[in-house]
Amino acid sequence: FALHGSRSPNQCEAGTQQQYMCGIVGYVGAQQAAPILLDGLRRLEYRGYDSAGMAVCGPEGLRVCKAKGRLQVLAELTEEGRAMPGVGHTRWATHGEPNDVNAHPQVSRSGLFAVVHNGIIENYAVLRERLEKKGYVFRSQTDTEVVAQLLEDYYVASRDLFEAVNDMLSVVEGAYALGIVCRDAPDRLIAVRKDAPLLLGYGAGENFIASDVTALLPYTRDVVYMDDGELAVVTAGGIRIYNERRRPA
Ligand code: GLU
Repeated sequence: FALHGSRSPNQCEAGTQQQYMCGIVGYVGAQQAAPILLDGLRRLEYRGYDSAGMAVCGPEGLRVCKAKGRLQVLAELTEEGRAMPGVGHTRWATHGEPNDVNAHPQVSRSGLFAVVHNGIIENYAVLRERLEKKGYVFRSQTDTEVVAQLLEDYYVASRDLFEAVNDMLSVVEGAYALGIVCRDAPDRLIAVRKDAPLLLGYGAGENFIASDVTALLPYTRDVVYMDDGELAVVTAGGIRIYNERRRPA
């Protein structure tokens, strides 16, 4: 595979990132997302997981399917009609038992956001309590659900996706690779990486995110390993990467 710039593929092997295996895969392009996500997740099975799921943006909003156990449980999900972005996930539970509700994607209260996450949100309890006081009802036991609910809370205030993601990131602490889709922005997905592996894959008229290049080998060998603190806006036409200070990288 090819690398853009001078980033080292070995970054993925370094330090604390090893402890967050499981997996993330995301797709934006002209093909149906769901089969590509399933294929990518199958290629990440070796990393271990206890449950799996995916979210696909469709004409009727975000369609989420998730389940405890093997990927085969997900295999029947396909998306009719025009292809839309999607994110898939294999979970290795840290907060809340492996079950259908705790499997990712975690979805915000009105279904505006779907989030997949590898890692741990250390301060989730405080954030959850704060949101509950504002009337948010949590469905799962995961730390990840606070990310989805926070995104909705900030987005409803600003109506700006980029700003809402940055607002959310300014309050969460911990380690995370995140794949985010928003019902209001069905042409894109957002990728964020801090102390957990995540890479971007470049195709022709389609682009990808993944925990590991293995997930993308059938589709592209042209990848960028995200640096810590980076955020990427992924559309079918291109990928914009922002550094920790949110300047174009
Ligand atoms: N901490 C999250 C959870 O327990 C993510 C686990 C993972 O990395 O798969 O849901």
